[in-house]
Amino acid sequence: MNKLKVESLARKNIQKLKPYQAKEISCKIKLDANESPFAVKISDFISEINIPLNRYPDPEAIVLRKALSKKIKLSYENIMLGNGSDELIYYLILTFGGPVLYPVPTFAMYGIIAQSVGVEAIECKLDKDFDIDDEKFLKLVKLKKPRLIFLSSPNNPTGNTFSTDKILKIIEFAQKNSSIVVIDEAYQPFSSEKGFLPFLKDYENLLILRTLSKIGFAGLRLGYLIGKKEFLHEINKVRLPYNIDSITQYVATEALNKFYPQIKKFISEIIKERQRVYKRLLKIKKLKVYPSEANFILLKLKNSKEVYKKLLKAGILVRDLSSMIDNALRVTIGTKEENEEFLKALETILEEKG
Ligand code: PMP
Repeated sequence: MNKLKVESLARKNIQKLKPYQAKEISCKIKLDANESPFAVKISDFISEINIPLNRYPDPEAIVLRKALSKKIKLSYENIMLGNGSDELIYYLILTFGGPVLYPVPTFAMYGIIAQSVGVEAIECKLDKDFDIDDEKFLKLVKLKKPRLIFLSSPNNPTGNTFSTDKILKIIEFAQKNSSIVVIDEAYQPFSSEKGFLPFLKDYENLLILRTLSKIGFAGLRLGYLIGKKEFLHEINKVRLPYNIDSITQYVATEALNKFYPQIKKFISEIIKERQRVYKRLLKIKKLKVYPSEANFILLKLKNSKEVYKKLLKAGILVRDLSSMIDNALRVTIGTKEENEEFLKALETILEEKG
């Protein structure tokens, strides 16, 4: 019998693809995935769940969309939900196609999804301060006429927001070239800047992507896309039926309606801790520390791989970014106690190295 070569049965662009790096590595302190360190439990805001599991969920998730719409002060008809914002990135590219343009380094899924859908992915290197090189970027918009532009601001993994003026310039120029701009605001809740919701009314080609993952609910898988109904109408054609399950719809609605003040408190604590950790890291001589508007901090240091391994040996898991940025690590802000353990372990490791 012939041995079946399964890999060769996959479409050509899938054969070349590397899956998103999401490994489970056992550790005592998990600071690798930009999750919230505060363990939110369903019982913190729901006493009993009575959801008929024999029935399909509401396909339009109206109640949850209305709960979200109250928070952003726009109609629920301007909101579309996804199983995480990842799913919405997938739907966007599936609906509008490519080329897809984004600055790098950034969130890996824009490129992975473009490649898996089979459209051209165009990368534009950020400048030395990790801001957008707007001249180069606008040239690419003109030359390549991308159908979609993704801008993660604050950006993952660099932590900075891009300059608002540059983003607005890109949106305006993109509009003239019929390119859609998606601002990915996964980390917006941690930023001191206002974000782009106030600009939605000014631009026809602007969409905003958000998620509950970074503010305490990564396990629920809920992302949302905000924009004009006409866009959502097109994307809705590729959305899988019932993509948001009944439990997520119910729990997320209750969380937004009953637990929001606590969510906001957790966010403030993370911001406070980020500032404290940043100042402490600045005191360590062998590090380059980047300022952050997100719930993580980017570090550059010599022998990052060795330091990564030593941290893991001490029970602390951070993200090794060396495949993306030379000698870089990304550390998520944890609880005060977790951050202390991380800081002490890092200080010890770097002192040892002499
Ligand atoms: N956008 C950015 C910039 C991210 O960093 C992430 C998660 N790492 C996501 C989107 C995806 O988030 P989720 O699918 O959990 O909503």
